[in-house]
Amino acid sequence: MLKVDNLHVYYGGIHALKGVSIDINSGEIVTIIGANGAGKSTLLNAVSGFLKYKEGKITYKGENLPSNPSKVVKDGICQVPEGRLVFANLSVKDNLYLGAYLRNDNKKIKEDLEKVYTLFPRLKERENQIAGTLSGGEQQMLAMGRGLMSNPDLMLLDEPSLGLAPLLVQTVFDIIVDIRKMGKTILLVEQNAYKALSVADRAYVLEQGKITMKGSAKEIAENPNIKSAYLGTA
Ligand code: ATP
Repeated sequence: MLKVDNLHVYYGGIHALKGVSIDINSGEIVTIIGANGAGKSTLLNAVSGFLKYKEGKITYKGENLPSNPSKVVKDGICQVPEGRLVFANLSVKDNLYLGAYLRNDNKKIKEDLEKVYTLFPRLKERENQIAGTLSGGEQQMLAMGRGLMSNPDLMLLDEPSLGLAPLLVQTVFDIIVDIRKMGKTILLVEQNAYKALSVADRAYVLEQGKITMKGSAKEIAENPNIKSAYLGTA
């Protein structure tokens, strides 16, 4: 479904991605694990068109993916950015409708809003609340709900559990599994490697801009080097 081939991204003199190749099949949850600064967000931002890349190729459903954020969304990919970035002065409902701003299938938009409310009952309860006053966990749910409102086939999730209390972390990962059941494909970037590997089918390890390991989530979780470096056990 998505194929990233030999991607190189630079920030001025910093070579942030050094020939990264990954692929994702339809219906999978694939996770990229890696330490701070490994290049995880850079990879997602290159796919979603926010960052230009110097070298490499990204194809989606067999076609070249343009480096243009609105076109990428129209093609069926949405990114839920790290730090949530909800529109703080708008209501929950208006934030959700903004997720659908490139669509004009009004009937389907309403149906999708109901699906989002079923997935996140908390957002339904608070649909008229100003988003900036939501708790961190609620803002994360809103950002995911807003992403779903673009009706994507592929969701790029950047650190969805960052800064959340343990109970909410579990809720967010349960919801990721539910989103996959809705037929979506998910590329999940996480520092919480343990949780990410528990929901993913396959995983890539990104270290200093390079993929250093790939395999089934189970294989990666059982690898002794990964256990000591990312899972806190030896
Ligand atoms: P984290 O988990 O901390 O978010 P990450 O794996 O997502 O880390 P990136 O944010 O992709 O890592 O950063 C990769 C490298 O590129 C880091 O060394 C970072 O300092 C650098 N970098 C990221 N954004 C910029 C920027 N706008 N200008 C210069 N360097 C940047």
